Amino acid sequence: MAAGVCGPTPLVFRLHEGAPELVREVLLERGWEEYDEQEQEEGDWNLYWRTSAFHNSDYENILPWQRLNHHPKTVGITRKDCLARNLKRMRGTFGSGLYNFSPTTFILPNDYTRFLAEYTKHRLKNGGRSGYWICKPVDLSRGRGIFIFEDIRDLVYDSSVIVQRYISNPLLISGYKFDLRIYVCVKSFQPLTIYMHQEGLVRFATEKYNLSSLDNLYSHLTNTSINKFGPFYTTDKERVGQGCKWTMSKFRCFLHSQGINELFLWQKINNIVTLTLLTIAPSVPSSPNSVELFGFDILIDAKYKPWLLEVNYSPALTIDCQVDVTVKKVLLNDLVDLMNYKSMDSVRQRGYLKQKYKRPCYLGSQSLQSPVLLLPKSMCEHHPANKKSHSIHSTFSDSMRYFPSVEINRIRSARNSVAGNRKTRPVLSQMTEAIQWSEVTDVESEFDDRDLSSLVSPWQASRQPAGGCCKLPAIHIQKTPKFPWDPKSQDKSTPPLRVGDFILTFPFNEVTLKASWDKLNVKTAVHEVHKLISQLASQLASGCSHKQKRGREDELDRCKEKKDFGSLFWGPTNPPLLSECHLGKGYVGTS
Ligand code: ADP
Repeated sequence: MAAGVCGPTPLVFRLHEGAPELVREVLLERGWEEYDEQEQEEGDWNLYWRTSAFHNSDYENILPWQRLNHHPKTVGITRKDCLARNLKRMRGTFGSGLYNFSPTTFILPNDYTRFLAEYTKHRLKNGGRSGYWICKPVDLSRGRGIFIFEDIRDLVYDSSVIVQRYISNPLLISGYKFDLRIYVCVKSFQPLTIYMHQEGLVRFATEKYNLSSLDNLYSHLTNTSINKFGPFYTTDKERVGQGCKWTMSKFRCFLHSQGINELFLWQKINNIVTLTLLTIAPSVPSSPNSVELFGFDILIDAKYKPWLLEVNYSPALTIDCQVDVTVKKVLLNDLVDLMNYKSMDSVRQRGYLKQKYKRPCYLGSQSLQSPVLLLPKSMCEHHPANKKSHSIHSTFSDSMRYFPSVEINRIRSARNSVAGNRKTRPVLSQMTEAIQWSEVTDVESEFDDRDLSSLVSPWQASRQPAGGCCKLPAIHIQKTPKFPWDPKSQDKSTPPLRVGDFILTFPFNEVTLKASWDKLNVKTAVHEVHKLISQLASQLASGCSHKQKRGREDELDRCKEKKDFGSLFWGPTNPPLLSECHLGKGYVGTS
């Protein structure tokens, strides 16, 4: 086969049982192929996606071209009781003034006596009324097992639960309660690198909020898994519309229409996300090939204070309505972009051999001294290359290390759109040829950075402003995002400020950048967040929105000039007017 014809093999994804269908759909659209356990060798994949946790061995055996969709040991924030415990610890260390974004929580049965004391205190103070409480099983999700109560005699539980102060004055839209699902990607825990997605979901209860019917879950819980079975799900509800979801863009338009300075709200949410992740960051083992998508659930009260309700491990990527399609497809594409695949990752075995990675890479009994050839199982034994592996090893040139970082998956996708989808995996003869160094170089030069600018992948081309009209304006676009893939490398450059709609929220200045390298300095990071909150508070107190806006723009300009961080304040700099938002009927998707 002529040099360059074969090209790099497509990137390969591996889905564990129960992984969201949308992941498959998005990756296939990008030109990836699905891993076939029967046909392919163990390590012949680039992304392994699981809804549940990986085993330790998955982290230990990771190969350089592979990524996993979870970091190890993040349960400290994703289980309700662990989150409560960790936030309490941080309150003890840094004060309740800063860690004041989570409702008072007790873990039962252990904290029962303390809960009783608090309950009684409130009753005495409020003329016999204790206020409202919510009880949630610690390890369930999707609203299962949750109930709200006022009278302690209604508190009945038979498993470990948390009892939390119920935020009884939520912000309502036309009488409907809602919460926000914020998507957060932790690109790395060491150094701590956090991105927040500009889009997200607003999830509504489908019956009007009413404190005199605490057992009406359609009025008090905002989980889609509950509300989609409610009697009013398909009804065209005042302002909310049909269904139970809005895009975040639509919500921003709504806030704008109400004259709310949403930037402060977003910044407060940023801070909540950062402070929460700081609780576990030092204890998460380094796993450079992992990326994690968390779903932060935030409730806003009538005074516009955001509260953290919980952090979701594997946030739902199911599609219930058009809003889900709009938000989650873009989200997943941006997530894959953040995973930073390089050309070399698509030439799995060749890249591995050439890179001579120092990290232990286990693949059965093979080691770097006996090069690994990831061929289809059925062909492996007869493959001539296996017999002369040492000579193959020596055909690689050192220059192979310096492959340009190319978004190969998008390129592949774009190429497929021109040449038609090539579904079949390369046959043995192609793979034999592909292992020759000369071809690798040809392939690489075929897809250099210049090619990128002229190719637009199908998903990118079809990418719509979420919600159809409320385009979130770009704040910063770094043309060629550069991110140190290996956190142990000497290259301590700034992570890209923006990847798709993911905006860098930590580190957010030079101090936090330095604090995040080597051993994370939590104290310094928390101190910087504190400073930020104080600045915000004083700006709020000054109460001049125009000046604030101007100040923020100046800040961004300064950031640009200094090539400093611009993600301090994120959110639309110039949100569209309400008249441009088509808030009316038909805007909210339904299933
Ligand atoms: P789950 O993991 O089961 O979804 P959540 O903690 O997210 O549990 O709670 C489910 C829903 O209950 C939330 O989406 C929100 O509408 C409501 N909720 C939970 N905690 C509170 C609270 N402290 N105050 C008010 N509403 C709450």
